[in-house]
Amino acid sequence: MEFAGSHILSIDQFERPDIEHVFSTADTMEPYAQRRRLTKVLDGAILGNMFFESSTRTRVSFGSAFNLLGGEVRETTSFESSALVKGESLRDTARVLSGYSDVICMRHPVAGSVKEFASASRVPVINGGDGTNEHPTQALLDLYTIKRELEARDRKIDGLRIAMIGDLKFGRTVHSLSRLLCLYEKLNVVLVSPGELAMPEHLVDQLRAADHQVTVTDKLEEGIQHVDIVYSTRIQEERFPSTEEADLYRGKFRLNQAIYTRACEPNTVIMHPLPRDSRQEANELDMDLDTNPNLAIFRQTDNGVLLRMALFALIFSVADQAERYSRELNWQPARRRS
Ligand code: ASP
Repeated sequence: MEFAGSHILSIDQFERPDIEHVFSTADTMEPYAQRRRLTKVLDGAILGNMFFESSTRTRVSFGSAFNLLGGEVRETTSFESSALVKGESLRDTARVLSGYSDVICMRHPVAGSVKEFASASRVPVINGGDGTNEHPTQALLDLYTIKRELEARDRKIDGLRIAMIGDLKFGRTVHSLSRLLCLYEKLNVVLVSPGELAMPEHLVDQLRAADHQVTVTDKLEEGIQHVDIVYSTRIQEERFPSTEEADLYRGKFRLNQAIYTRACEPNTVIMHPLPRDSRQEANELDMDLDTNPNLAIFRQTDNGVLLRMALFALIFSVADQAERYSRELNWQPARRRS
């Protein structure tokens, strides 16, 4: 794929060598993300961060990634405070905002909306999540995390055994991740959800067509027994017709240390796109897992910055110039712990 000037809208744009290119570029971003050096390679560039649906991690990590490359960030963070509420079309908004920015990251509650927006944008657009459809950068950072976690255990992505758990119907992160896994070989994919929240049929078919072994179950402990990665997800209550309906499924697949010890192989990695729903009635990933070294959820969020830096660097064709425009910091990072 040609990264320079491209929109990033769907995982379907990528082939395996593209993914490897993104991952090796992400590796080179570590000195800047870890504040060992400072680069100004995107000095003067402006990111328009347009989030028309709630977001913390994705929005802030896109912004931080752009800042870490030396660029500036402008944000619109709610539907209500944007002109969309006055009836402006997505295409008009795109024409206008693309005159103010060099790249736009966008999240919107309607599936397909970011693509429509991109069709009228004069600058590259990155999909930060469009309804239940896709969240391509989350899937990339998830797979980047999986790769790093597996490498630490002398394993590769090919042959991976993964269980995806929870709301597989509305969860866009598992939709994008499933598409991405189709680029790899001989995987064992276990889909654990209530029948009503099962992975869409076309994605299950796509996984099977990629020659992966797919098991569909509603039994948590059976599903997580023989896997390398447990990928838990949140019940996407904002996509349900009512809270009462979401309540029917909340808390059905709680993972805690006792269940982990009983059911999982030693060193099974635990991931979640976050936010984890920690309310008592949900408690998807119990806090008692926080001291388990295999809980990778915060390594996952740190990796998100590297991955998003890599995408910006590739879109602006500066991946090999970050070092040239770098220097030492003239301040000491005031971090209290790693
Ligand atoms: N943060 C992820 C998303 O935006 C997962 C979630 O919200 O549950 O899709």
